[in-house]
Amino acid sequence: MRNAVKDRLIKGNCLYQKKVMEGDKDINLNEEVSKHPILFLTCIELRVDLFQIFQLDPGDAFIFRNAGNIITNDVKRAIYLTVFKYDVENIIVLGHLDCGMARLRTKELLDILPPEVIGSLSDNPKYPFLDLIEFFKPFTDEIRNIKTQVQKIKMMRGLPSIINVMGMLYDAKNGWIYDLEESGELETVDHFKFRYKDLVKYKKDELIGFLQTIQNNQVIEKFTSRNTSNDPVEEKTSFEIEGISKEIFNKEFSLKNLNFSIETPNISIPKLYLPKIKVNIPSIGKYGMNKKEKQ
Ligand SMILES: [Zn+2]
Repeated sequence: MRNAVKDRLIKGNCLYQKKVMEGDKDINLNEEVSKHPILFLTCIELRVDLFQIFQLDPGDAFIFRNAGNIITNDVKRAIYLTVFKYDVENIIVLGHLDCGMARLRTKELLDILPPEVIGSLSDNPKYPFLDLIEFFKPFTDEIRNIKTQVQKIKMMRGLPSIINVMGMLYDAKNGWIYDLEESGELETVDHFKFRYKDLVKYKKDELIGFLQTIQNNQVIEKFTSRNTSNDPVEEKTSFEIEGISKEIFNKEFSLKNLNFSIETPNISIPKLYLPKIKVNIPSIGKYGMNKKEKQ
């Protein structure tokens, strides 16, 4: 008998098959090696959507998720396999602000877990706290946790010296990624909050630089797409930045419309004066044009 969730999944798979048959989707994952030599370790948090955040496609990178992006034996297994069997050279620990694992308290665990679960995790019914902490591995500071996990990977035996292990922080409130090294050696979340104005400015400059790079014809090869029958003329451009090819469809907007002023607790939001330039915004990946972006 099917429940509603299973029914939804099976119907979703039928829809996928329909799209494949109609040529709208590819079953393209015949390769074992990822397009980019990357393994992500990130949290199970729903807001962390790597495909959106980095504009990746299925098959671009290996992804391992667990609660709190913690190094466990199973993560080590994935690291050794992807490094030695699938040529991964970059391991990225991607944590995020406001992580549930940073708010998890043992008292809450005692409240929500049935006694038989607690009993199965601890031989000490009067004082199961240490065993629960050992099992669930909560932490108090998201940035410090990312750094700890990065260190644990670096200390794994036998990893080749060419392997880059990086820590990144995702702010789900505004969609920005902060490279913990490039963002001025961030150490803790308090440190992040203290330096928030600078970080936002850095990100603003990064975005403006990116958009101007697109705008400069150095990396843009303009071409006009097919102009058949009654189809409106559509101009599209392609660009290549650091190995990532994207197509851009002309869509004018002003940087003024970009919202940098996302509230973060206890942080005063800096006023930003953005230059008024018109740009093309990046569209989707290798599957071609997304219909809703055609307009
Ligand atoms: Zn999380």
